Amino acid sequence: MDINFWDKKVETIDRHALKILQLKRLKETVSCALKTQFYKARLKKCGINSANDIKTLEDLKKIPFTTKDDLRECYPRGLLAVDMDDVVRLHTSSGTTGTPTVIYHTKADISHWSELIARCIIATGASKKDVFQNMMSYGMFTGGLGLHYGAEKVGMTVIPMGGGNTKRQIQLMKDFATTVVHITPSYMLHIHSKLAECEVTLEDLKLKKAYLGAEPYSENTRKKIQELFKIDAYNSYGLSEMNGPGVAFECVHKCGMHVWEDTYLVEVVDPKTGELLPEEKEGELTFTNLTRRATPLLRYRSRDIAFIHKGGCSCKRTHRRLSRITGRTDDMLIINGVNVYPSQIEEVIMKIPEVGTNYQIYLEKEGSLDKLVVKVEIYSKMFKGDLAEIDALKLRIRDDLRAAIIIHPIVELHEPGSLPVFEGKAKRVVDARVKL
Ligand code: AMP
Ligand code: ZN
Repeated sequence: MDINFWDKKVETIDRHALKILQLKRLKETVSCALKTQFYKARLKKCGINSANDIKTLEDLKKIPFTTKDDLRECYPRGLLAVDMDDVVRLHTSSGTTGTPTVIYHTKADISHWSELIARCIIATGASKKDVFQNMMSYGMFTGGLGLHYGAEKVGMTVIPMGGGNTKRQIQLMKDFATTVVHITPSYMLHIHSKLAECEVTLEDLKLKKAYLGAEPYSENTRKKIQELFKIDAYNSYGLSEMNGPGVAFECVHKCGMHVWEDTYLVEVVDPKTGELLPEEKEGELTFTNLTRRATPLLRYRSRDIAFIHKGGCSCKRTHRRLSRITGRTDDMLIINGVNVYPSQIEEVIMKIPEVGTNYQIYLEKEGSLDKLVVKVEIYSKMFKGDLAEIDALKLRIRDDLRAAIIIHPIVELHEPGSLPVFEGKAKRVVDARVKL
């Protein structure tokens, strides 16, 4: 297997040199943060008045966490650390409630972000020879523009299609022999279900790789996508507060996502106590951006749950690897007192070969108890078969789910194309329970 690098020196930097670089950049970031109204007040309270108050990486612990609510309160300029003249772009996110958040970028910030994306692309074995179709939304969502600039930096042929318009996507993939796509896993599955309708076969496509991210998905979904399209699928992770995609990405070995530690100081903390957790222990990912000058963020609580793998990777990159994101501190469902992550349900159903490409988790009340309905699309050939076979499949799915999540779900089987379709981020959970 060919291992290529975009910036070999940084990607294979020895851990000791990396720590020295991180400390230097942390100091620079603190001094930059002190230029914002928000951090000026907050850092002074904990005795940090200048970069000199940070002497070792351990001093990071003195800095309080920054949360999404802090970002909302700072809207629109409380976290701006440079003159507006020096800002070349901003991204806002509407979030699920009320006030938006905003991240500003200088020219150098955008350029550094593109460098990180270029590292990710090369790490998957892609190159300037590839045709890259970006199916993530452009605009305020960082998935579109983020990958776009990195792919151009690499020299790929970029098709900036954005999300949606499935038939056109498939047509473009065919006409321009797209080899790499960037897409949400749910939309990738949807694309597959539309190929026949568009009279396009896998042989008509030249697809080799998919970069899958922006929403949680299981290892079984990755496998399913790889098998359906006969391609390699790579996990891509990022969040708009840390620029967007390019925070962590899988290399050709697909054994966790290398997090670019020269740019992101990653800590895994206990979501309840904020206590630092060791490698291999699952907790909330917390990031400090070490290079962004327009909007510095220190110890940002992502709400994403994952862990850091122990040990190196055979690709020789020294940046540690993040596990798959198993959930968020805020998407956990409590069903009749039992905690359930939607990803656990997905993991089970995507393992079942008869299951198609779409599903929905529906929660409602039955008397005073919660009822969990898992609605699953199955391939149409199943409906042509024996009724007893369908009942047996239903039971099998129910039993497998029960074994994984402990509670009893009701399983409903649906025809392909009957459940709501998502062209961007999927909304798989419908919680129709009355909130007390
Ligand atoms: P946004 O800030 O809108 O780009 O959303 C970022 C969030 O999307 C992250 O905090 C994660 O919860 C989720 N996300 C992004 N990439 C992945 C991924 N590869 N796996 C699971 N969740 C992801
Ligand atoms: Zn690697």
